[in-house]
Amino acid sequence: MSDIILIHGGAGSDSSYTERLMGYAKASFMRGSALDSVVEAVRIMEDDPAFNAGTGSVKRLDGSIQMDAAVMTPDSIGSVVNIERVRNPILVARAVMEKTPHVMLSGDGATEFARRLGFPDYDPSTPRTEELYRKAIAAIMGKDKNAPDKYINYRRFAEILGIPKNKDTVGAVARINGKFAAAVSTGGSSPMMRGRVGDSPIPGAGLYAGERGAVVATGIGEEIIKRTLCYRVYQQIGSDDLSSILMREIEKFGNTLVGLIALSDDSMAAHSNSSMATGYAEFGK
Ligand code: ASP
Repeated sequence: MSDIILIHGGAGSDSSYTERLMGYAKASFMRGSALDSVVEAVRIMEDDPAFNAGTGSVKRLDGSIQMDAAVMTPDSIGSVVNIERVRNPILVARAVMEKTPHVMLSGDGATEFARRLGFPDYDPSTPRTEELYRKAIAAIMGKDKNAPDKYINYRRFAEILGIPKNKDTVGAVARINGKFAAAVSTGGSSPMMRGRVGDSPIPGAGLYAGERGAVVATGIGEEIIKRTLCYRVYQQIGSDDLSSILMREIEKFGNTLVGLIALSDDSMAAHSNSSMATGYAEFGK
């Protein structure tokens, strides 16, 4: 059985990222540990401002940035929900798994935990996230006549919401020495309210790792949660060709943006109903 790491740059991400992701997959491969490898892959992508995770995360409707990240192995899980002002949410998610009796920490509690561990205050916004935010607000406020429906639908809620394009979330799955791990990180799915939670930090929805494989999802989190997508895919591993399983599950989403990457004992597969940049590195084949 070969060692392998497979990573994605988000459902809807530009395929021009492929070369970069191939490099990141190779750089993050850590001989001997699937967990170290997926965490390192996600950390590298969080630091690349092109992706909607860590630095470069999209803003919520109120202008704040709240991020989700999670890591999972067959034995354990760690997750942070709506954490703010840290550079690498994935490292805090791993710390939740390894240093606390809990599996998920959210909001202020997650941020405070990060500070206690010495993760310094960090502003993940970039000129690109500012520009996306400005455009999203213009679309919601009706100043952009050609705004896509998803923004227009927010107009009637503008009053209670208190008033960007979402893509480029990141994720990784690895199989090393026959052990599986999965990791994800995202700034969320814009437009969204402060406090909104997507699929990414939720085990079984945005990621799953077990004895038989690892699965990570990307796309519209609400729909992914409703289908407990990653666990659903995991349960089918071995029943059919891995690619066919992914394609079948993605078909059920119709036009709703979704993508999946997955590994089993003998296969790797990646599918999306939109473009989705991926990269991988394989050793010992
Ligand atoms: N699934 C993420 C969320 O809904 C976003 C994404 O993957 O693009 O928060």
